[in-house]
Amino acid sequence: MAENICSCEEKLTWVNEYNRHYCHRCQKYPPTCSECKRDLSWIREYNRYFCTSCRRYDEPTKSTKKPKEDKIESHDRGKIEKEFNKLRERHQKGSLDKDTYEDVVKKMKFKDEFSRFWTIGANTGRWYCYDNGKWIESSPPQTLEGKIVKISRKRKKKAS
Ligand SMILES: [Zn+2]
Ligand SMILES: [Zn+2]
Repeated sequence: MAENICSCEEKLTWVNEYNRHYCHRCQKYPPTCSECKRDLSWIREYNRYFCTSCRRYDEPTKSTKKPKEDKIESHDRGKIEKEFNKLRERHQKGSLDKDTYEDVVKKMKFKDEFSRFWTIGANTGRWYCYDNGKWIESSPPQTLEGKIVKISRKRKKKAS
């Protein structure tokens, strides 16, 4: 049986109990193969991980930790409306062009506790709920999850 090596180049120890390899120096398990989910072995010569079962190199995700999720923000619907109205006002006064305005409004999607999506119509200023593949005008609950998109008053630098 081929030896599995940790990326620190220490020989990995087989742990029968967990059916896994373990590095005592790093005190962690190696990343696993994306195909067969077995432990990967570090190949120093190539600076890559290798799966001894699949006989192929594998690129594990850099971190074994879960990817950091965006922090969920909760907002009062009144606050969302206020921010939206500010944007609309800026658009109506001409300090915010149509494309940017519609783009920002499009990003302002909110989720309620039943995982339904809500948004405010860029033209109507009314609330819509996504239902059966359509946006239906409706009244949202008091609190919604999502990000309020803010744009700074400074003009974005355009690549020329
Ligand atoms: Zn190690
Ligand atoms: Zn594999």
